Amino acid sequence: MNLQKPDQLTLPPAPPAAVNLYTPKNPFTATVVGRRRINDPSSPNFCWHVVLDIRGGQMEGRYRIGQSIGVVPEGRFNDPKFNVMNRSLDSKIRLYSIASACWGDDWRGETVSLCVKREVDENEETGELVFGAASNFICDAQLGDRMQITGPVGKSFLLPENPLPHHYVFVATGTGIAPFRGMLIELFNQGFAGEAWLIFGVPYSTEVMYDEEFRQWSQNHPNFHYRTAISREQRNREGGKLYVQHRLEEEEERLIPLLRRPETRLYLCGLKGMEFGIYKWLYRIDSGLLSLPPGMTVEAIQAMTRESPDWMKVEKARDKERLFKETY
Ligand code: NAP
Repeated sequence: MNLQKPDQLTLPPAPPAAVNLYTPKNPFTATVVGRRRINDPSSPNFCWHVVLDIRGGQMEGRYRIGQSIGVVPEGRFNDPKFNVMNRSLDSKIRLYSIASACWGDDWRGETVSLCVKREVDENEETGELVFGAASNFICDAQLGDRMQITGPVGKSFLLPENPLPHHYVFVATGTGIAPFRGMLIELFNQGFAGEAWLIFGVPYSTEVMYDEEFRQWSQNHPNFHYRTAISREQRNREGGKLYVQHRLEEEEERLIPLLRRPETRLYLCGLKGMEFGIYKWLYRIDSGLLSLPPGMTVEAIQAMTRESPDWMKVEKARDKERLFKETY
């Protein structure tokens, strides 16, 4: 897909963040108008970019990148085959981060896109395959199929109201890439001239979603720096798995001065576990993005394990104006 808007088009600024325009009791019926696989076809995993038509509803032109929408996986919650995670069956929706800019992939705000990986597992006792209810519902959907959605929700992972006079470091693991695709489209189509980094971690090189788009983007924009961390194919300096935090470390000569600038924003999206290594690094480089909880030293934090009772305090010590996270 071309991430650059057509020349003749003038895009409006991002709208104010609206929330809960649709709820589980009052969902909107969207139609699937696009679907394409976004990881390598040779992969045994299946990640799809799905485009939903939201014309005629209140969400049209009113969602912000960084928000999520809920999907109602009709008919699948009460089937054990579709309850891979063995989660409570009474929830009617699953939330997914929006992957399109506020103008949608159609540039008119008439669509919203999601980035979804099929969840598939084996039942430990029976060996039967079980499928994540919502992820497979979305990935199964064909063009023209209708789907009930809710939201948008969330106001804490947005770009700043005036996004241009900032620098950005985006760090994603897996499908946590979703919001960064939309954020980059919004920034660069509004004439962003700052520095933007995207550090993207996945287990195998076949799992790098939107890879071609990001590569092309970095060729066209010298101020966009794209790095992948392929955990099970590449090694860090100690010989272990190469994670996003190791890529950050490798680039620290350029990232330290950037992160220390007050106008720089750091966004983390994906697995909760990534916070641990990244936060330690942020303390070590004196980024200013995390304060020291009372009575703690940087050395004590470096020695912590994820199980340390004090880790909770560290987690909460981020500068909420400059460091944003959406991790699960
Ligand atoms: P995935 O393909 O398994 O990729 C995750 C990557 O992170 C792997 O390379 C993994 O390495 C690495 N990793 C594991 N532990 C880490 C750690 N402690 N520090 C740094 N990197 C680490 O991911 P996924 O299955 O797509 O899962 C992504 C997560 O993002 C899910 O929890 C999802 O809920 C969340 N999320 C999704 C969305 C969305 O819109 N879909 C939005 C926000 C967040 P190894 O496996 O090799 O150890």
